[in-house]
Formats: sequence, C-alpha cells, structure tokens
Amino acid sequence: MVLDKLGDALKASLRKLTGAAFVDEKAINELVKEIQRSLLQADVNVKLVFDVSNRIKERALKEKAPSALQRKEFIVNIVYEELVTFLGGEHKPLSLEGKKPVFVMLVGLFGNGKTTTAGKLGLYYKKRGLKVALVQTDTWRPAAYDQLVQLGKQVDVPVFGVKGEKDSEKIWKHVRPELDTYDLIIVDTAGRDALSDDLIEELNGINTLVKPHEALLVMAADVGQSAEKQAQAFADMVKVSGVIITKLDGTAKGGGALTACAVTDAPVRFVGTGEKIDELEEFKPKGFVGRLLGLGDLEALLEKAKEAIDEDRAEDLGKRFLKGEFNLLDLYEQMQAMRKMGPLSKVMKLLPGMGGMDIPKSMLTGQEEKLTVWRHLMDSMTKAELENPDIISGARLERIAHGAGSSIAEVRGLLKQYKQSKKMAKMLKGAQSEKGMEKVMQKIQKGGFSGRRGKRMKF
Ligand code: GDP
Ligand code: MG
Repeated sequence: MVLDKLGDALKASLRKLTGAAFVDEKAINELVKEIQRSLLQADVNVKLVFDVSNRIKERALKEKAPSALQRKEFIVNIVYEELVTFLGGEHKPLSLEGKKPVFVMLVGLFGNGKTTTAGKLGLYYKKRGLKVALVQTDTWRPAAYDQLVQLGKQVDVPVFGVKGEKDSEKIWKHVRPELDTYDLIIVDTAGRDALSDDLIEELNGINTLVKPHEALLVMAADVGQSAEKQAQAFADMVKVSGVIITKLDGTAKGGGALTACAVTDAPVRFVGTGEKIDELEEFKPKGFVGRLLGLGDLEALLEKAKEAIDEDRAEDLGKRFLKGEFNLLDLYEQMQAMRKMGPLSKVMKLLPGMGGMDIPKSMLTGQEEKLTVWRHLMDSMTKAELENPDIISGARLERIAHGAGSSIAEVRGLLKQYKQSKKMAKMLKGAQSEKGMEKVMQKIQKGGFSGRRGKRMKF
C-alpha cells in the first residue's frame, strides 16, 4: 500500500482520539497537530497542510454531532471528509465518451514514466473492452519506439510509429489514417530533463495536430514539492485535463505530488504503483483515504455517520413540514432529500404517528429529471411567486414556462404537486393536534402500526 507511513500516522492519531474518554478542545487541537505533522512528513505543501487542518479544526469545534453519533465518531468522519475533499473529492474518470477514436495524450518530463504508463493504460482499457492502440511520437529518446513496441507486445495492443523518424509531426501524419477503427488512442510524447524551449515547441506542435480529448501529465511521486511548479508549467502549455502520479510505490513522500498538482485544477486520474505493467490504479479519493485511514475499521462508522446525518436532516424537514408553512423552495428541498434518503415514508416514520399515513404515490418517488425541470421552473419564478405560489396564473404561468424552456403543463404539474403537499401538511397538522395525537397513540398502543415495533421514536 502506498504512503504506508502517512496511513499509519493518521490511523494512530484517530485511534488516540476514539480511545479518549472525553473529547474536548485540547484533544481536538492535539489531533489536528498530529495530522499536520503526518501530512508534512509525507511532503504535502505547508500551505495546503494548514488549509486542510484548519478546516478540520474549525468543523470539529463548531459543528454539532448528530444525536445518534458520539462526538469523537463525528470528528473521525470530519477528518475523512476533509481529506477526501483535499485529494480531489469525487472520483473523475477519464471522459472517453463521444466520437471514436478518443485521443489521450501523455506529457511529462523525461523518466517520469510516460512510456510505461502508455503500456499500462493500454492494458487497463483493453481489459475493459475497448479497442486500444498506442502511438509513439517521441523522437528524442533513442529506442523510444522499440520500448513502446515491447510494451505493446506484452499486453497485446498494437503500436504505431515510424522507427528512426526525427520529426514527431511527420510521424503523426503518417500513422493517423490507420487509427480510425480504434476506440481509444494513447499517444506517448517526448520529454526532456527540464522544461526547455524545444520541448515546449515540440509539444505545442503535436498538441495542435492530435487535438487530444484528454492531455494527461505523467509525474513521478518523488518530484516532491516541485510537483506544483511542474504541473503549472505543463498546464500553461497544453490543456492538462488530468494527472497520473507514478512511482507512488517507491516513496514515502508522494503526498507532495498527489496534492500539489491540484493547482492546475486537473484531478489525479491514475496512480502507478510499481514497474509491472498491471501496476496502475484509478485514483479514487474516497477509496484512497479509506485505505489510508484503515477502511476496515472505518466503514461501519462512516455508514453510521451518514445515516445519523440523514436522519437529523429528515427530522428537520419533518418539523418544517408540520408547521404547514412551507413554500415551493421547501418542497424542492424535500424532493431532493427524498432522492437522497429514499422514500418520503421514511421521513414520515420519524414523525410521531405518521407511519401509517397514506401518502400519494407520486410523492414517494423523487425523479431526477422531474427535479431538474422543477429547479429550472423555480429559477424562473420571482421571490414573491416562490413564497406564495397561489398567485401564479395566466401570464405568470406563461412567463415561467417560457423562462425555463418548459411548458405551461409542467408549471401546472409543479403547482399541483405543491398543493397536494400542502394538503398533506394540513392533515399532519391535524394529527398533531391533541385529539389527533390521542388517536394515533391509541393506535400505536394497540399495535395497529405494522412493522414498527421497537422502532426508536423521535421527539
Ligand atoms: P518516460 O521517460 O517518461 O517515458 O519514462 P519511462 O516510462 O521510460 O519510465 C522510466 C522508469 O520509471 C522506468 O524504469 C520504469 O520502469 C519506471 N517506472 C514507471 N512507472 C513506475 C511506477 O509506477 N513505479 C515504479 N517503481 N517505477 C516506475
Ligand atoms: Mg518515454
């Protein structure tokens, strides 16, 4: 596992926290200091270390833990979330959609692992069912073509190039007509020891010709903190859409490269974890941080945290709902929450006595497309309309539909949904009145609500 030392250090800090009898400000400060120390040792840039650790500290001190979570569990979750964000957040796979073939060009300095990675990517995508070809345009390094041919043989992926040709643009023009039948073309390029004018010129030329869908910067983890400068320099030259960090197996200091290239806004897409042809992994921040922190120990906790947070949110929405004062924006939020949590019935179950309510089916399914349309409709409403949808009629209907690129029927549909929800809120309000509540309680005592025995009641 890469960055073992960092992982061990972070795990030890978290274990200390979760082992503590009581978590106070002092314990949080200590945790944050230890995280800082671990990240600095992994060669992460000082400024970035302070950014992330300050965010962890601020959240750990300020945010209230959901009722079902211990404070320390909540803090572990914060550390996890912030580290994931720090490493790029959601995983962004290469975009290989669109017209075939898709061109992926690898750029980077000499010896960083471009050619090796071209072979690895060939195998990676071949295994995933794509028809892949490799192209060698490196005319600088002697035997670059032979090196790629070797790798191509190893993974059984065809390699195109012109042995001995000294002009990379000529190579491209020569091989280009043969590439149309492939899904994915991986283009290897020349490097230099440093970013020289002639490399810049060469890459500019080949970049203009290839027009790659993705230009990936290949950078070895051991460049440490100069990663940032290097990434920036390449990004100024070609539109770097992603980064591949190689040799992450060989250094304890890979944290520098992994985080510093964030300056280019280009996510880390893959990491190379060895010299062998299959030692390439897609970089997924969540999985990576999970492993770093010891996911085995963490998984259950993170799941629990997620549920607890969702439940609190549901409770919140439920309360607002019960006031019967909600407007269209609340409705929207509700739909969104539902999509996240599953059916509204779950929200209802958190309210006293609501588990048996008959809820219109249309409300129970939060459809993604519908939500998008509604969001657009709501965007084209005025504040007054959002707060008081009853005023929407006639010319307003038309204006809203037009502004959202939608139809009057859709606006009506939205208003109907709103009215239904409002009606339901009234019903709930009724049930909350003393008499209604009494009835509900009686029913519960008689066991009239199926399947809810032993379920923890909120409020
Ligand atoms: P290029 O000049 O950028 O094309 O670099 P090469 O692909 O020729 O690689 C340079 C050296 O780095 C070779 O000896 C590779 O075996 C080695 N290398 C590439 N990727 C990795 C990796 O992920 N881990 C390790 N340990 N070595 C790697
Ligand atoms: Mg090479």
